[in-house]
Amino acid sequence: MHAVHNPARARDIVGESALADAALVDRAVRAAAAAAPGWAALTVTERRDALKAAAGAALEDFENRARLLTNEQGKVLWESMVDLAGAPYLLRECRRLIERVAAEEIVDDERGRFVRRRRPVGVVAVIVPWNYPVLLAFNAIAPALAAGDTVVVKPSELAPLALTAVLHAVSAALPDGVINVVPGDGAQTGHALAAHPTVRRVMFTGGTAGGREVMRAAAESITGVGLELGGNDPALVLESAVVDDALVTALRNSAFTCSGQVCFAIKRIYVHRSHFGDLVEALAAVTDQLTVGDGLDPASSIGPLISAAALDRVQALIRDSAEIGGTVTELGRKLDPAGWERGHFLLPHLVTGIPQQSRLVAAEQFGPVLPILPFDTENEAIALANDSEYGLAASVWSRDDEHAFAVARGIEAGTVFVNVHAAGASDHTTPFGGVKQSGIGRINGWAGIEELTETQMLIRRDDAANLPGPPA
Ligand code: NAD
Repeated sequence: MHAVHNPARARDIVGESALADAALVDRAVRAAAAAAPGWAALTVTERRDALKAAAGAALEDFENRARLLTNEQGKVLWESMVDLAGAPYLLRECRRLIERVAAEEIVDDERGRFVRRRRPVGVVAVIVPWNYPVLLAFNAIAPALAAGDTVVVKPSELAPLALTAVLHAVSAALPDGVINVVPGDGAQTGHALAAHPTVRRVMFTGGTAGGREVMRAAAESITGVGLELGGNDPALVLESAVVDDALVTALRNSAFTCSGQVCFAIKRIYVHRSHFGDLVEALAAVTDQLTVGDGLDPASSIGPLISAAALDRVQALIRDSAEIGGTVTELGRKLDPAGWERGHFLLPHLVTGIPQQSRLVAAEQFGPVLPILPFDTENEAIALANDSEYGLAASVWSRDDEHAFAVARGIEAGTVFVNVHAAGASDHTTPFGGVKQSGIGRINGWAGIEELTETQMLIRRDDAANLPGPPA
């Protein structure tokens, strides 16, 4: 067994989780494979009813699960509620797609009959990170169920408890074997799942290094992968922007929500030199209003980082920024200074005066420290934004809408927001995913269904005699 600790009081054990070995993973995959034909054969109405029941089960015991999630993950309670609410929301949204999944396109013409249809892929492995474990798991589970696939889910070893509770409830509302859970780590459990030859698609959400390993493991069986990986999202504040309270508050919320541990948080700001001083000053003022403490304390605006290792990594980036001559400003307020050292707490920081090549600008910091760099021309800003191995999301800020959209078209990212950069701005109606080393594939809505089904053609030719073929 493996103990799950509370990031706000690191000595407290919130619960325990098993570490599934390859034999247990194999049993789970076999159970999913055995359930797959029956689940795939449901009618549209039966599948819609099943997903409705699943959505109901996902909502059970909501407040206790939200508290559990905050205790294991650290984030503030309202964020845990948003995370948990993702499961019923996504199940309901995917219910709407079931009819379209089942629809066949039939073309009868002089050549014969051509039927184009979608088949479920079969067993889908869903590998989940710790930052938004429930919502991110259901980003894959909900479309997989709607598509007629069965799933084996591997939660993160750092925050498995709330997700596992939801999965138990949801799986009890569905036929046996449709949802399976294998708790465990990445190197053993995750690897065994990604490498299993019966798994037909691996939907992985996590860091780029883990995604690379998963792709390698899946390659052995030519298993398809959907990879939702890390990001280093730039925000470009153009000369045509108005630097007001609304703008800096939006930048602050994007960068520091969940202590910066969001895949598409703003992770670097490029601002036109004419606004640089004003933006840094105004952003510092609103960031200074943040309070850092236990996520269950209603006075906390942000909680701790997930682990001691994460805290060390982010503190090292802050130290490095100071050592290379940057101006590092610590902001915000400790809610419980006496209990500060008990958790993995870190106040929000702004950093200026460091170059594009510095570690803080180049890395995915995944923590509450934000670099701000000036630019002189928009071409320079676009080049700086694109100077990254990542390409998840980005944002352009301007009061000239058309101009902002034109700049957005030049940015290498799966999503470029205009005058917004927030979780929720990309919802179930908008395909989401990364370019470059931020990932492969798209989730959300029909794009998610396409990832989790295969197109099948059924063909009868009435003109077979006229088709080209080998000489008689
Ligand atoms: P991680 O890669 O360490 O772990 C993610 C999951 O993969 C965990 O369940 C882990 O056990 C498993 N895993 C790790 N190595 C594995 C391997 N070799 N084989 C199989 N499974 C393995 O990531 P994390 O620290 O949990 O999450 C943070 C990262 O996730 C950040 O980089 C963040 O940007 C990214 N993320 C991306 C998105 C997105 O939608 N693009 C969403 C959330 C988080």
